[in-house]
Amino acid sequence: MHEYSVTESILSLALEKAGAAKASRIIQINLVVGELSGIVSECIQFYFDFISKDTIASGAKLVFEMRPTRLKCRKCETVFTPQNSDWACPDCHEAGIEIVSGRECNMESIEVE
Ligand SMILES: [Zn+2]
Repeated sequence: MHEYSVTESILSLALEKAGAAKASRIIQINLVVGELSGIVSECIQFYFDFISKDTIASGAKLVFEMRPTRLKCRKCETVFTPQNSDWACPDCHEAGIEIVSGRECNMESIEVE
């Protein structure tokens, strides 16, 4: 995922929510990000500071809550968190798995004034 476009969508969603709440300023944006999303929080904050300059979100702090990867075995349906790069099922060692979570990038809430 490209951080710049992610940041743009975070900003536009936050502005939309703040507008709906008739807020005059956005102070903080809380985000939930999966490990597999590849998102680097420092990059997002950097881009955000840059593109939010002339908006009510200027100076807002981005808070990231990282979510671990969760996988599910297609054979025995065990849900597990992979320990390293080994994504085989810990119970039956089946290699066929599906990703339950870990790729998300969601805005949980925003704090406004
Ligand atoms: Zn299994």
